Amino acid sequence: MSENINGHTNIYGVLGYPARHSFSPMIHNFLFKKYSINSVYLAFEIRPENFKNCISCFKMLQFKGFNVTMPFKEEIIHYLDDISKEAKIIGSVNTVIKKGKTYRGFNTDIIGFMKSLEEKNFDFKNNCALVLGAGGAARSTVLGLINKNINKLYIFNRTRSKAIELVKLFKTYSDKEIIIFDSLDALSDKKLKNIGLIVNCTSVGMSGLDNPKDMLVPEKWDLKDKFIFEMIYNPIETKLILKAKSDKALIINGIDMLINQALSSFEIWNGFYPDKKELVKYFKNSIK
Ligand code: NAP
Repeated sequence: MSENINGHTNIYGVLGYPARHSFSPMIHNFLFKKYSINSVYLAFEIRPENFKNCISCFKMLQFKGFNVTMPFKEEIIHYLDDISKEAKIIGSVNTVIKKGKTYRGFNTDIIGFMKSLEEKNFDFKNNCALVLGAGGAARSTVLGLINKNINKLYIFNRTRSKAIELVKLFKTYSDKEIIIFDSLDALSDKKLKNIGLIVNCTSVGMSGLDNPKDMLVPEKWDLKDKFIFEMIYNPIETKLILKAKSDKALIINGIDMLINQALSSFEIWNGFYPDKKELVKYFKNSIK
């Protein structure tokens, strides 16, 4: 948040339902202050039936930009003048910028996901990945992995028809075969051995849901030396992360991705990529 809020302060925010739990205000207000940018970032918890009116208000109030989170990442597209190529492919926008009189949408979840893997030197070309889930986060993940030419791509989703829809969507974009698993319990040891990356793109394990202590990965799986990417950041230590730790896996958690996607949103709005180190230090101290 800018140190001196005045008549020229620009408003940014995250629009979701729920939204109050979001860490984005903490991240962006830290960056606005650090770079002396006269802006403020707030959380707007908006009931789905009020979404359309809320967007009209944002436009009327000349918001410079905003993030959109669950459940609005698809619906927001109807209210934008233009969206990026990646956002178009996966049909999901999480970052909006006002450019002159128009509003443009991007999806920085894709960049956030990829950056988090690149920072850990993940070898895309020589690895097979298993994506759990078939929602918006899974579409971002699959697009990122295809763009990096992942060796082999597997997907599992509770509702098989949605996994089939995802596979169909990507058939129009790439030749990469996406293989659907019907069950995780039945997976052979040989197949599991070949999987170097498992990404949880479901909400299983998230706080506030019925069974936050759950995980989709079978307890009997040995995750040693595999990359385990947990998208959930609340709680920070999900059941999957705890298992990954005890199996000596290589872990990437939802906070890594959250910070990386936020840095990319900041870049879209402000035209430069902020320093990550200080933000991470501040963030880790703030959520202790
Ligand atoms: P979404 O579009 O609503 O998709 C939810 C996915 O979770 C679906 O595949 C759904 O399967 C599955 N699922 C939900 N409950 C389940 C259960 N009890 N058993 C098995 N599968 C279940 O949500 P999303 O936007 O993709 O987000 C998914 C998760 O990623 C959320 O926890 C979100 O917070 C997190 N995320 C994190 C970041 C980050 O920056 N760290 C960014 C984006 C998303 P069905 O199709 O069978 O319903």
